[in-house]
Amino acid sequence: MDLTTLERLPLWIGGRAHSPTTTRYGEVTNPATGEVIRHVPYANAADVDAAVNAAADAFPAWSSTPSLRRARVLMKFRDLLDRHRKDLARIVTQEHGKTLVDAEGSLTRGMEVVEFATGIPHLLKGEHSDSVGTEVDSWSMRMPLGVCAGITPFNFPAMVPMWMFPIAIACGNTFVLKPSERDPTLSLRLGELLQEAGLPDGVFNVVHGDKEAVDALLAHPRVRAVSFVGSTPIARYIYETGAKHGKRVQALGGAKNHAVVMPDADLDFATEAIIGAGYGSAGERCMAISAVVAVGDVADSLVERLAARAKRITTGPGDAPDIEMGPVITCAARDRITGLIDRGVSEGASLVVDGRRPTIAGHASGFFVGPTLFDHVTPDMTIYREEIFGPVLIVVRAESLNDAVTMINENPYANGAALFTRSGHAARRFQQDVEVGMAGINVPIPVPMAFYSFGGWRNSLFGDLNVHGTDGVRFYTRLKTVTARWPDDGSAAPGFHMPVMG
Ligand code: NAD
Repeated sequence: MDLTTLERLPLWIGGRAHSPTTTRYGEVTNPATGEVIRHVPYANAADVDAAVNAAADAFPAWSSTPSLRRARVLMKFRDLLDRHRKDLARIVTQEHGKTLVDAEGSLTRGMEVVEFATGIPHLLKGEHSDSVGTEVDSWSMRMPLGVCAGITPFNFPAMVPMWMFPIAIACGNTFVLKPSERDPTLSLRLGELLQEAGLPDGVFNVVHGDKEAVDALLAHPRVRAVSFVGSTPIARYIYETGAKHGKRVQALGGAKNHAVVMPDADLDFATEAIIGAGYGSAGERCMAISAVVAVGDVADSLVERLAARAKRITTGPGDAPDIEMGPVITCAARDRITGLIDRGVSEGASLVVDGRRPTIAGHASGFFVGPTLFDHVTPDMTIYREEIFGPVLIVVRAESLNDAVTMINENPYANGAALFTRSGHAARRFQQDVEVGMAGINVPIPVPMAFYSFGGWRNSLFGDLNVHGTDGVRFYTRLKTVTARWPDDGSAAPGFHMPVMG
């Protein structure tokens, strides 16, 4: 590979850009044009070691900094993110492909986690009991873990890392981020802005790379906890390997989110909501609606509306005006998605809108797939069973709400599910019976706000705790419970027996 002409990204270690020792580099492309725009280093074990050691060295001072002062750094960071939001969104769009409006929206969702983390003095308050015994008091403290690592996917280069590190560092930990190698530049800007906000050197570090860097993080003895978001096979691998090395792990995996439409639903409202949730960000959202379950006799009129609206979606480069949907991330992703569409056709589903060969003026080499809609899909088909992660909506027909919920509960993925109805009774049945981590009622993408926690069930999350919200604080801290007495001279000391309070 010719490395002479294009920019080579550095790592971010110890509060500054850091030249890696690795000689392995990958290409970063602009998915709208198909052009290689820069090169990203694939860190080796020595590079990872440098980042983890910088984080470990920064830990004693940072963890003993008062939480209020840590929060103030995050307040400044939040303001800097806001001030630079347009530039940050442009970086996301250039490397990911999503529209500028969507990129800015994802930044806002990340900033909300920073805002939540600024409440850390309150969030770290423990429990306290005086006089658990005669003149004995007891209380608990939430203590940071040490060096935490975050390994993140391509689809949200700003938001997903910000689900993790603001809370981790607010709790007093230090952090090493391994962002996706597909869109790595934003993470370096985050490092610069944290530095400008006054974060001490080494508290936040970035290593780029692939499996080699991830494996070095998972095996590193100074890494205490690993947060992962990505596909299910890798999530399972991270969970198992991290646990084998004695680390605390939360690993969020893939999804196949269903939207159930009841016969009494407002069909125009449901159509518009499902179109946005299915095709927004070219379907590359972990909470994208991928399967629509049409209940009873609603299917024909729903499919007709979805098809009409899908055909009107404006597809093109994410930085052009009036574009609703950009390209998918890579050429390989485009070929995988069109291959799955071929498979849907060969397995007997009805292809209502075919997005396999879209014409995008001036962008013949971009990685575009047009909006695609299938009807008459059945649960045994590949397009139902696999996560497509592209702009492909499939409609499955069900006779009743019960049948729809059973179908969702039998799916191996269990991130989110939504119901469209005007019936409070149906809504309540759904929210009680559906077995997923996040449920929406007339809300197609029920992503919890930063002060609630985000996570799925079954193959969509391995681990005990969700990300952000109070689960995030619990993940990035461990409890210490103190029992104390201050005896006057001459009072009896505990003897040989098990002490009994009272
Ligand atoms: P991915 O699993 O390919 O990559 C995620 C991260 O793992 C990247 O940093 C990558 O470098 C690393 N990685 C890839 N292969 C690896 C290997 N063999 N060993 C070790 N590390 C490896 O995921 P992606 O394609 O970047 O992102 C899309 C996936 O992420 C989809 O499945 C989507 O549903 C999922 N996702 C889930 C959530 C959620 O909240 N559950 C959120 C966003 C994305």
